[in-house]
Amino acid sequence: MADRRTLRPAIGIDLGTTYSCVGVWQHDRVEIVANDQGNRTTPSCVAFAETQRFVGDAAKNQVTMNPINSIFDSKRLIGRRFSDPLVQSDINLWPFKVIEGSNDQPMIKVAYKGERRIFSAVEISSMKMRQATMDAGHIAGLKVMRILNEPTAAAIAYGIDKLGSSIRKRNVLIFDLGGGTADVSLLTIGGSEFKVKAVAGDTHLGGEDFDNRMVNHCVEVFKKKYKKDISGNAKAMRRLRTECERAKRVLSSALDTTIAVDALYEGIDFSSNITCSKFSELNMDFFKKSVKLVEKCLADAKLDKRSVHDVVLTGGSSRIPKVQQLLQEFFDGMELKRNLNPDEAVAYGASVQAAIMAGTGNERVQDIVLVDVIPLSFGVETDDGIMSLVIPRNTTSPTKMRRNYTTVKDNQTSILFAVYEGERTRAKDNYWLGEFRLSGIPAAPRGKITVVVSFDIDTNGILKVSAQESTTGVSQKITVTNDKARLPREEINRMIKDAENFKVEDEKYKKKAKAKGALEDYDYDLKSIVNDKEIRPTLS
Ligand code: ADP
Ligand code: MG
Repeated sequence: MADRRTLRPAIGIDLGTTYSCVGVWQHDRVEIVANDQGNRTTPSCVAFAETQRFVGDAAKNQVTMNPINSIFDSKRLIGRRFSDPLVQSDINLWPFKVIEGSNDQPMIKVAYKGERRIFSAVEISSMKMRQATMDAGHIAGLKVMRILNEPTAAAIAYGIDKLGSSIRKRNVLIFDLGGGTADVSLLTIGGSEFKVKAVAGDTHLGGEDFDNRMVNHCVEVFKKKYKKDISGNAKAMRRLRTECERAKRVLSSALDTTIAVDALYEGIDFSSNITCSKFSELNMDFFKKSVKLVEKCLADAKLDKRSVHDVVLTGGSSRIPKVQQLLQEFFDGMELKRNLNPDEAVAYGASVQAAIMAGTGNERVQDIVLVDVIPLSFGVETDDGIMSLVIPRNTTSPTKMRRNYTTVKDNQTSILFAVYEGERTRAKDNYWLGEFRLSGIPAAPRGKITVVVSFDIDTNGILKVSAQESTTGVSQKITVTNDKARLPREEINRMIKDAENFKVEDEKYKKKAKAKGALEDYDYDLKSIVNDKEIRPTLS
């Protein structure tokens, strides 16, 4: 075995919607890497100015000066169509411009060095979609080893000092409420094994939503007081939003605070007092929704809430007292575990996993076994428009599952397989991931043909789907990715080139993430032609 001190280190990255954090395993422990401003977390923000591009803290500072060219929250666009109502409502609150690209894909428009530039969300940040996350890593010049579910990473951070102990298995619930998303995971931790039992999440529930409610509240207050509507003024809205977020943080440790912005609109100074209970009232439905996720996760894990040993809080928004109170009430007054740093836990756990994969961890760490699950069901659309499940959610990953389908018409020689991810009955209500056609099926009466469809999910959660007709063996397959988040090869190449062009400006920032590696080659040729008249399969 190689001496682990001579191995190249690997880093763990938490690519958050609002904040990102990087860690590395060194001297037998995780060290969080500070950015060039000395901060341990960095705003997930990019700003395009006249002469240069800013990233992180510097970009966040640009937001008020140059709102239309400062991009934040772009992770919320990933994997969504432009026409999605959630996207539309986000767009209304953002100072930067989002336009409709090809395939209903949302694109971000900025002015950079006197030129108009259009970027996809994937380029600006990262995303929920795993393949696209890997693309984002590659574009940044990193060799991506593995994508980890955030709560799983947090669970590692929590469980690391409980390893190897002879204590019996513990059921641990991780409650991660961040800036853009809420995630709940139920794991068992015992010996050196971390086994995920179930996960539940909402990709549109987090601190940003609470900020939005506060902003809207202030807009109303302003309207009442001055009979003026400031909602159309991007700069005023952004300045107000920054103040609201600050006030929200204060309200996690104070009973009331003041939201004040000088010369907010037409020279008018704005100042309004807000209490902790007003803040809770504005967001109560969101808070309750986050607790509902806990119920859902427990139901999926088939576990009674009384069997949970530890409830662990992580994510910046888990600091909100009302959220903690509701959660504690749900668990009949049980003490919640607050010993993780909510801003760093995910990067911490990811760094441990990185050390395991790079072989640089100590014995204690190298023994860790991680068993994860897939968070959403996968299936194909049948002729009746129904989502036919092939892999149910919360199945242990990696996994391979099969299901048989057949033709719906006599002498039908091709079948269109549209692959979806989600829990809704109607395929159309779920996320469309891609589609492919199996042709060359021998002529036969309907229902007589058997096509075996296999879904194969690897450790990174990337899905490969194949379909094979039984008698002739004709087959077709795709690596399923989301076409909306998924980019054609030229796009990716262009982005890699762009990333190179931005290199000088980014030099300072890049030094921080030293895990630069060769670009990996992987499957790009995935798209097949969409034709609505094509016949989908039916169950055989
Ligand atoms: P993400 O991983 O989604 O980027 P984080 O876990 O980093 O999110 O949490 C960021 C969110 O937490 C932001 O919305 C921020 O406003 C919120 N937050 C941070 N500190 C506090 C606090 N003290 N009280 C309430 N919310 C907070
Ligand atoms: Mg997070």
